[in-house]
Amino acid sequence: MDIVKGNMGWIEVIVGPMFSGKSEELIRRLRRAEIGRQRVQIFKPVIDQRYAKNGIVSHSGLEIASELVHGGTEILEKVAPRTEVIGVDEAQFLGESIVDVCSRLAELGKRVIVTGLDTDFMGRPFEPMPRLLAVAEEITKLLAICMRCGNPAVHTQRLVASEELIVVGAGGMYEARCRRCFEPQLAQQKLEEKAKLTQPSGAAKVRSAAS
Ligand code: ADP
Ligand code: ZN
Repeated sequence: MDIVKGNMGWIEVIVGPMFSGKSEELIRRLRRAEIGRQRVQIFKPVIDQRYAKNGIVSHSGLEIASELVHGGTEILEKVAPRTEVIGVDEAQFLGESIVDVCSRLAELGKRVIVTGLDTDFMGRPFEPMPRLLAVAEEITKLLAICMRCGNPAVHTQRLVASEELIVVGAGGMYEARCRRCFEPQLAQQKLEEKAKLTQPSGAAKVRSAAS
């Protein structure tokens, strides 16, 4: 972000698929703010307890302490008046309120740095990230490396059977895929295969005959 005059706040958003380095980049920016002796507060949603309970941990093992929140509005309650820089990881799990909360904090003169997935396991825009991108001063879109072919990866491929929007996990459940290798229907197909296996064979026949 360019040097700004006075105590104007702003919003920086870092998006991309899983494994693209969003947490690493967030930690890098927050560490630099701390080196600059700025007062920093860091938040992440309770839903993501992948590795550490009270810290943001990147897939490469970088770590920074953070406070857990259940939703966007809880951040407003927890931000101290003197805090200058606010980091938020995994904002796609914080609900619609996060957009107004970030705007409010920026209006109060704070630098807000937010990360999140911009698309879900089917490649669809993952609300509220698109709305956050619309109000941000600065956007960084990161790409991972496709686990199939090594090309730049824009997608988060879900490898397990589930249609739920939120299935938290990393090891073996998701991988980065490029546009060409991405299979948006894979999780759905696996779910159908599983259903067929658990159904008595007669019921499966009836169902396929009816469809
Ligand atoms: P994000 O927050 O976007 O999920 P992280 O910052 O936690 O990403 O992790 C990024 C790190 O993950 C990379 O620096 C690299 O060490 C590791 N990594 C594992 N798989 C991949 C991949 N497919 N593409 C890129 N980096 C990967
Ligand atoms: Zn690929």
